Amino acid sequence: IGQEVLEELKNEITELEYNRYIRHLDYDLKKSSSDLAVYYAQNALVVNWIKNKYTDKLAHLFEIKTGNKVTVSITLKSAKTTKKAKTTAKEVAKTSSLLNPSYSFDNFMVGGSNQFAYAAIKSVSENPGKVYNPVFIYGGVGLGKTHLMQAAGNVLQNTGKVVIYATVEQFLNDFIRHVKNKTMDRFQEKYRKCDVLLIDDIQFLSNKEGIQEEFFHTFEALKGTGKQIILTADKHPKKIGGLEARLQSRFEWGLVADIQPPELETKIAIIKKKCEINKVKLSDEIVNYIATVIESNVREIEGILSKLHAYSQLMHVDIDIEFTKNVLKDQIKENRQNLTMDTITNVVAKDLNIKPSEIRSKGRSKNIVYARRISIYICRELTQSTMPQLAQYFGMKDHTAISHTIKKINDLIEKDEDFKVKIDELTNKLSSSS
Ligand code: ADP
Ligand code: MG
Repeated sequence: IGQEVLEELKNEITELEYNRYIRHLDYDLKKSSSDLAVYYAQNALVVNWIKNKYTDKLAHLFEIKTGNKVTVSITLKSAKTTKKAKTTAKEVAKTSSLLNPSYSFDNFMVGGSNQFAYAAIKSVSENPGKVYNPVFIYGGVGLGKTHLMQAAGNVLQNTGKVVIYATVEQFLNDFIRHVKNKTMDRFQEKYRKCDVLLIDDIQFLSNKEGIQEEFFHTFEALKGTGKQIILTADKHPKKIGGLEARLQSRFEWGLVADIQPPELETKIAIIKKKCEINKVKLSDEIVNYIATVIESNVREIEGILSKLHAYSQLMHVDIDIEFTKNVLKDQIKENRQNLTMDTITNVVAKDLNIKPSEIRSKGRSKNIVYARRISIYICRELTQSTMPQLAQYFGMKDHTAISHTIKKINDLIEKDEDFKVKIDELTNKLSSSS
């Protein structure tokens, strides 16, 4: 069955992708069960790449085929011999909320963009519960929040502390499971009696009252007994909507630190570090090139390295600058091809705090017109939509109307610095988010 699922995945992805990553996966019949599928890949970069890109798809295909919810586990081939023999789905579910030992302070590159967050987390890892509680780290996708938080977790765990790491989603699922099994006492025992609680992506608490209530009591219990709490989110606590006031204020009780996109030098240091860890050899020219082309998302940089590495191995070619440029071109195109006008409009609407339907309406109020102009411009830049398609999508009469608007937008970009900055910011966000 594991092999059949791979065959099916073949139909959903490009042949190149299949040959690069999927074809070489080994399915472990013995360890897999009705709710667990275990695959092995050849190297750590490929493992990461597959995990990020394909596990959801694989799990979905398994579910279609077997009717069961299946946990898909991708591990390194050599782990096969060293790991203990019995991995049940339960254990995997448990380990999924365990710490990743490769997230350490040593391999976290510090620069102006993240030094405040780094210093904050470092100091609580040395003095848990004593200096800042909670520590709240916020910043964009792929900037190292999870890495930092888990680095502290690893240090503390090694000093004998009981550390729990969970995303809000895992916390919520655990909660639901215990409610169903009527074992809430065990849930509370687990989360309120640990020494260190790490909760990742707190923004997902937004508008979920039940779990906010539970989390509030967990927080109070831990804080009250001097246990360290570390939280991350994609925004400042004040900006997370749909949060109870008492939670929001508590998030700011300790220390709130942001992580900004890395500056060029930090990006270069990160790339070099990742190359060292994964034994990939790149010339300085190539490292610089990647650092300049990829705006901010470090996860994306890792994706590129794994692609370069896997591709060069499979094709038996050296990684030179031409080769790199080609792979990157693919990547950027791939990111952009996935973008639809809906996605763009949704992102713009969210950022500017209005409804997507308003952007597509005929509304003339100032902020609607502003959002509409930005959406049109970005759709024009990042999708293949034609003028008539744009006109139809944004409710305009015809392509003359839209080209008139685009001309106006171009004028504005010249004149209005803020407008241009906003467009760049959203364009970057959209190009690197998929
Ligand atoms: P976030 O949680 O902010 O979305 P992650 O912590 O998951 O981001 O980071 C994404 C990837 O980028 C991880 O593999 C992480 O190791 C790497 N990374 C991010 N920032 C750094 C850094 N400063 N030094 C080394 N690796 C980094
Ligand atoms: Mg994260």
